Amino acid sequence: MKTAFIITAAQAIQQTILANENTLEALDREIGDGDHFINMKRGASNIVDMQAELAGLSPDAALNKIGMKLLSTIGGASGPLLASFFMSMAKVLKENGDESTLKIAAAFAAGVQAIIQRGKASVGEKTMLDVLVPVSNQFVLLATQNCDTKLICATLIKVAEEGMQSTKNLIATKGRAAGLGERAIGHIDPGAKSCQLMIEAVCKQVLENESR
Ligand code: ADP
Ligand code: MG
Repeated sequence: MKTAFIITAAQAIQQTILANENTLEALDREIGDGDHFINMKRGASNIVDMQAELAGLSPDAALNKIGMKLLSTIGGASGPLLASFFMSMAKVLKENGDESTLKIAAAFAAGVQAIIQRGKASVGEKTMLDVLVPVSNQFVLLATQNCDTKLICATLIKVAEEGMQSTKNLIATKGRAAGLGERAIGHIDPGAKSCQLMIEAVCKQVLENESR
């Protein structure tokens, strides 16, 4: 992994968040408090604004800095959760290195574990984890099997989409939507949607780099 890629990925994430303003706004208005788009937009623009500072850092140090920035600038439940993802991913990359897809997958999985620990949620509770856990599992599996990057990216885009869609018919048992009971059924979880968009954007960026 290269820090230049992290910066390009952050720009791609910002673009997809901005392009999906109406969707993200509406989802959090339906089953939350309506601030998820604003939170994600603020987080993404803060990271993109740091690009000059990030450029001089190693990938793990850049991801750690991103996590710290998210912790101090995004409010809501999603800020500290996403911050813990980046900081844990950074820690594992620093310890184990980042020179193989398997090492990156393992660091991604550690980031998802940090979200689980911090938020005390698991799959099936109608949160971002319904996207992140299946993506992480599949990422580790495909990397272990030495699959090529194109196949991994195409698969993860699909798994993220399925995970996001799966939240539609779930009752929420964590986060703000937990108070809604059956009224949350029929609505996709906003955090699951933003995670799906971010995964798609990053995977497409990898695919684009591959085809150059
Ligand atoms: P808030 O809920 O504080 O308004 P956001 O609207 O930014 O914060 O984020 C809401 C999203 O955070 C939810 O859609 C859900 O995906 C995610 N979320 C909330 N609580 C948890 C949790 N305990 N574990 C994992 N994700 C959670
Ligand atoms: Mg909200």
